Amino acid sequence: MAAKNHDDYTVGWICALPLEMAAAQVLLDEVHEDLPVEANDHNAYTLDAYTLGSIGKHNVVIACLPYGQYGIASATSVAVQLLSSFRSIRFGLMVGIGGGVPNEEADIRLGDVVVSKLTNTHGGVVQFDYGKALNGGEFQRTGMLSQPPQVLLTALSKLQANHIMGRSRFMDFLAEIERKIPKQSSPLARPTQEDRLYRADHNHVDASSKTCSDCDETKTVPRPSRDLNQPMIHYGLIASSNQVVKDSQLRDQLGRELDAYCVEMEAAGLMNNYPCLVIRGICDYADSHKNKEWQGYAATVAAAYAKELLSVTPVIRIDQTRTVEDTLLDPDVTTASHSKDLSRPVTPSPFQTTPPAVINQSELGGIYLGTIRGEEIIPRLIQDPAFWRAEINTLIRQLLIIHPQWWVERTQETAKTMNDFFARNRLTFRVNILQRRSVRPGYSGHDRQYLDALFHHNLGWLNGFSSEEGVPEINLGILNLWSILEFLDRDCR
Ligand SMILES: [Zn+2]
Repeated sequence: MAAKNHDDYTVGWICALPLEMAAAQVLLDEVHEDLPVEANDHNAYTLDAYTLGSIGKHNVVIACLPYGQYGIASATSVAVQLLSSFRSIRFGLMVGIGGGVPNEEADIRLGDVVVSKLTNTHGGVVQFDYGKALNGGEFQRTGMLSQPPQVLLTALSKLQANHIMGRSRFMDFLAEIERKIPKQSSPLARPTQEDRLYRADHNHVDASSKTCSDCDETKTVPRPSRDLNQPMIHYGLIASSNQVVKDSQLRDQLGRELDAYCVEMEAAGLMNNYPCLVIRGICDYADSHKNKEWQGYAATVAAAYAKELLSVTPVIRIDQTRTVEDTLLDPDVTTASHSKDLSRPVTPSPFQTTPPAVINQSELGGIYLGTIRGEEIIPRLIQDPAFWRAEINTLIRQLLIIHPQWWVERTQETAKTMNDFFARNRLTFRVNILQRRSVRPGYSGHDRQYLDALFHHNLGWLNGFSSEEGVPEINLGILNLWSILEFLDRDCR
């Protein structure tokens, strides 16, 4: 293996706990040697805190928070040090454990994973003021955090599409770990302790006991049985604060008022300093019954998901995406991310001043726009962006004639119109008619905004499978149109 240098590393993977770091290390395809310390490196003393290695074609730096120092400030300082030592880092992943917030939309269980989901109003993570809630007030969002980089959002779409089509790989990665570390002795294996969600009115009985042996089993929330070996992935908001949440009332309030799926303690320290995606394995329900039994397994499932995500993320070369540091120097982004004015929608776009990417055909393998292979479409988009914008515009006008209030395929006629578009443009993708389940936002007269609204309104994101028909609530036609326009806006201006 050729010797590496700092600039070879483009992915920063941050953990809070040694257990989370262990799970990440076990999943590396290769472990690299430590780098020599440079004389002028002010972070030299921290360098041995990193683990270097690769996952697929990505060279990854894994960093862990100093022992015993959890919380937002500690995460910020680790991210800043990481970025100053490794100046080519293109994006980050925050991978570890968190408390689940079960709700009506998402049946979140121990060992499941919550991935921060971008919405129109926030970047997937909010910081909330813990004290306000304890005093009986409403939650106050104390900061608006910026969004993950586009390259990760595109990879997420691809991964979700794969999962819908039954092509999921993280279970294979989990099985790989079991082969490496025998289950009996492994702190990373699925625990035998039962997954019980207690009703919010039943507090942990014996505070000195780490198990729930004295807690009343009849006071649990009834939930349908599930295949124990198949963790589910949920996409939702992650609520972050400096204090640990151990209170079911507070947890449920976070679910109601913020629509949070997960609570944790570090992500808010990263988002504004370090564009990243947050991936949390659920190890407890953030209530008084919380213990550490599930932490190792939850950390491992989260790391396996992160590995699968990297496997569908293209390796970003210089000039294709600005480095994290460049993004932070952009006055627009900095202003937006430090703004506390929640009435103003904050959608920092780190890519607005990026020159068109120089894309080498041989690097397109494995890249997808939505579900369309990059090789099939990207060279053509780059060659004639105006043509593609006009084509999509024509398609939208045709769809609007069929349904002036909303234009997505639901009827034979709209599906045919969309399929004509894909066929006419020699794209192999075709849409099927899927039954609509969610309330559709109305068309506002602005095509691009409406497409964004549709995408974020469950149409581009998998929101779980309907138990009756097993039909995922995703509209791949919209996902693909959205992805094409995102690419045109980003790389072909
Ligand atoms: Zn208990």
